[in-house]
Formats: sequence, C-alpha cells, structure tokens
Amino acid sequence: MIVKENKEEFYQYTTDQANLSGACDKVFIVKNSQEVREVVLTANKCNTPLTVCGNHTSLTGSSLPSSGWVLSTEELNEIIEINEQELFAIVEPGVTLKSLQQALAPLGLFFPPDPTEDSCFIGGMIGTNASGARSFGFGPTRDSILELDFILAAGEEISFSRSENIQEDNFCIITKADNIIQFNIPQSYVLPDVKNAAGYFLKSGMSPIDLFIGAEGTLGVITKAKLKLKKRSLDYVSLVVFFQDLSDCFTCIDLIRQSSNNFQLKNINGIAADAIEFFDKNSLNLLRDKFTDIPKTATAAVWIEYGVNANQSYEDILNQWESFFISQEIDTSFIWFGADSNDRAKIKNMRHSLPVTVNEIIKKRGLRKLGTDVAVPFHLFEDFYRMATQATEAKGLQYVAFGHFGNSHLHLNILPANEVEMQAGKALYSKLCTDAIALGGTFSAEHGVGKLKCNYLKQMIGEENFAFMKKVKEIFDPKNILGRGTLFKLNDLN
Ligand SMILES: Cc1cc2nc3c(=O)[nH]c(=O)nc-3n(C[C@H](O)[C@H](O)[C@H](O)COP(=O)(O)OP(=O)(O)OC[C@H]3O[C@@H](n4cnc5c(N)ncnc54)[C@H](O)[C@@H]3O)c2cc1C
Repeated sequence: MIVKENKEEFYQYTTDQANLSGACDKVFIVKNSQEVREVVLTANKCNTPLTVCGNHTSLTGSSLPSSGWVLSTEELNEIIEINEQELFAIVEPGVTLKSLQQALAPLGLFFPPDPTEDSCFIGGMIGTNASGARSFGFGPTRDSILELDFILAAGEEISFSRSENIQEDNFCIITKADNIIQFNIPQSYVLPDVKNAAGYFLKSGMSPIDLFIGAEGTLGVITKAKLKLKKRSLDYVSLVVFFQDLSDCFTCIDLIRQSSNNFQLKNINGIAADAIEFFDKNSLNLLRDKFTDIPKTATAAVWIEYGVNANQSYEDILNQWESFFISQEIDTSFIWFGADSNDRAKIKNMRHSLPVTVNEIIKKRGLRKLGTDVAVPFHLFEDFYRMATQATEAKGLQYVAFGHFGNSHLHLNILPANEVEMQAGKALYSKLCTDAIALGGTFSAEHGVGKLKCNYLKQMIGEENFAFMKKVKEIFDPKNILGRGTLFKLNDLN
C-alpha cells in the first residue's frame, strides 16, 4: 500500500472535474481487499472520516473528502475474468470503463452503461449508479451488476448476488462473519417513478445488492464486481436529425420512444433506439466551431443510436428509418447518417464534446457550472423544458440544454459570467429542482446527490423517509466515517 502524507501530492484527490475541491490529511492507495479492510478498520477505530474515490469524474463532489483520509482504488485495477460463454466479467473497482471496453471489444462484447466520460472507474460507476446515453435502451449501471464484494465500515465483508431477494419489506443480509443485518423498509419509502439516482434504493422484494449500488461511498467499499456483458451488435445505426422547429423535435422523440418501448409498434415501424439524445440551439452553436457542417438553420437536434443484430441488414434498417422520417414529413437532407465507424465516432465525439466544452468555459471563468440533472414524467416533459429554458432566457443567463430525452432527463447547464449571474443562476437552478420534484420527478436522474444536493434529497423524499435513510446509514456505518458530507450534511448525522 502507498500512503501519501505530503499535501503537495494531494491535488488529484482533492479536486474533481466539476471544479470542486476538498481537503484531507492522508491518501491510502491500496493494492488488494485486505488493505482496503485494514484502512477501513483503522479509520473506524480512530473515528477518522474516510472517503473512497474512483477517478474523480463525479459532478457532485461525492468523491472529495471533507476532511480525514482518502482511500484511492486506482491500483485495484485488475480485470480478473472475462467469460465469453456466460457473458460476464469480474473486475476490481479501479478498472476504467475505457480499458474494460477495450478488453471486451475484440471478443465482440461490451459493458452496456455509458456515462459519456470513459475515464471513470467501474467502482465509481457503481457508486453513483451512473447511466448516460444508452441507459434508454439498457438501463443504468445497476441493471448490469450481477455480484458485489463489499467491506462495511466496521471491516465486515459481504458478498451479494443479484439472484438473492428479500422477503417483502424485511431487509436481511448475512455477513461473511455470520452477523445478521436486518431492518424493515417502511411502506412510505418510495422513490420517484422516473430515472433517478438520488436516495438509498430500498423497496419490497428487492435484491439487497441494489442498496449498495448508487450509495455514493456512504455504506462501504466495493472491492470486486461481477458485471453482466452483452454481445456487441454487428453494426450500429447512428444518426443525428436536425430540426428547424422544436415542436417537431419533441414529436419525433416521442414517436421513437414509443416505438422502442412497444414491441408491436417496433415491428410495424421497424425502428427502435438504444439512445435518444437531445441538443438545443445553444448546444449546436457551441459545437459549430468544431463541427462546422452542422446545418445553419438547425435549432434543435436528436442523436439516435441503435445496435443492429445478425439477422438484420444495416441497409434495410436505414431504409426503415428513412421511410419513418418521410412519413413524419421530416426533411432527410437535415440528417447525418453515420455510415461508417469514423462517422459514428464523430457523432459520439460531438455528444461528449458538449459537457467537456461547457466544463472548460466555466473553469476559465473561475466559476462553477450550474447544471440540472432533473427528470420528470414523460407526459410533463415538453412543458417543463419550455418553462425551464424560457425562465433562463428571461434572466439573461447563458445556457446550453441537452440530455437524455428518451428518459425525459434534462441537463440545462447555466454558464454564469460573473458572481451576480452566479447568484441569479443558483436561484433558478433551485427553482428547477423544486419544480421537477413537485411534478413527481427528481432533481438527480444520474449524477447523484454528493455534497451539493443534500437539501433537495430531503425535499424529495420528505423528513420521515430522510430519517429512515439516516437510520440505514447508522446501521452500516455507525460512526459516520464513510463519505462524510455526502448524501447527509455534516450536521444531519451525529
Ligand atoms: C464530461 C463528463 C460527462 C459525464 N456524463 C455523465 C453521464 O452522461 N451520465 C452519468 O451518469 N454520469 C456522467 N458523468 C459523471 C461520472 O462520469 C460518473 O459519475 C462516474 O461514474 C464516476 O466515476 P469515478 O470513477 O470518477 O468515481 P468518483 O467520481 O471518484 O466517485 C464517485 C462516487 O463513487 C464512490 N465510489 C468510488 N469508488 C467506490 C468504491 N470502490 N466503493 C464504493 N464507492 C465508491 C465515491 O465515494 C463517490 O461517491 C460525467 C462526467 C463528466 C466529467
């Protein structure tokens, strides 16, 4: 194990890609699960806060220490097994998404979750239940986790398998040392019925593994994971449809969403998507410098990606898409068809460039980005979107709006130019989160709560359920050493 005590070496452990910062006294770079256990036990014994981190790509400060020690998983980076027959991989938590996909690609396999930023670690993805573009088709990281090895704050080890479920509301697990951890889930504890990454996942009949996915490093440390893999499609349909009219864009998204989710419709139309991604007029303007062929008259765009299987012909599928667009009177001269891997990489790069460019702009200004991660029920989404963008324009704030519109999930990024705008942006950001919650949605569909959004968590689930979450935290981490300041504010827990 490497132990860093020189503060000059702490920079990478106390800053993240959202331009947030933290502070710590020591960094432990562990090499195996035994060392993880040692560090966790010592921290627990001497009441020292311990923050486990992946590659610091989280956008909520969840991986930043508020004080105490950092446990870095960067050296826990072995791909232990790839099983081509049974379609699974067993990995340590510090394996990057990029290196995993690179190992899988020659075998014709892939790991479905795709949170845009492929430098993230698998442990960080599980910690945040990351999702992204393809979660429309494949679900968030949770849906691809089969087994987890986990170390609790008191050093207890547990192995979970997705095949195990609890009896109704009686959450019950047995640790490797045969200790039983048991509590009842109140019926009132219900999370919003939209894509959501905020709050402990607890519900009747659940698999206990799900509580530890998306717990943002507050319940224990993941030391190993068995991941569900998929066979890579032979080819991909990747296309960007540009619109001059926003209403047409929303109609198109709705039709593709319905066709993808309904087997009969899918058969009739022959179209479906794994990813439905939206770009607003400001996003397109921001991208025009780098992607000069974006049509000048376009005010909105949708990127659609879909895997083509062995029994389908790429040409047939493209023809079906073309017929669909013609039937919807969508001008096909405003469509990019990603015909080869270079075109498809360009389209993917365009999507990734957007948050990266936004982060660069805001970093140069020395300010923090105010980016919503809200989702609302689909039938309310278009109105919500129009209200949100109009309210931002009314305040004269620069913004870009994009996101995973197949999941009615909006990233409205406000880019304040100075401190006055920052304050106006904060008030607006807060209103949008509150409005989304009031509509039965969430303030955090994929990035999690971290250290920035604790107030909204309480607002969304209510005082009673927040108290229940605190009880769960106390059961697994009685001294509150893990991820201090994440999910719960420092004064929420004693
Ligand atoms: C440009 C950009 C675009 C992004 N787009 C998306 C997107 O589309 N969708 C999306 O979901 N996210 C997105 N993200 C956020 C980010 O990529 C994810 O949150 C990522 O999965 C976090 O991984 P990480 O390794 O960086 O973890 P970190 O940021 O280091 O940690 C994240 C959380 O996981 C916990 N954690 C880390 N390792 C462990 C472990 N071994 N055991 C227990 N807990 C652990 C940490 O304590 C922390 O709470 C984006 C980020 C950037 C910079």
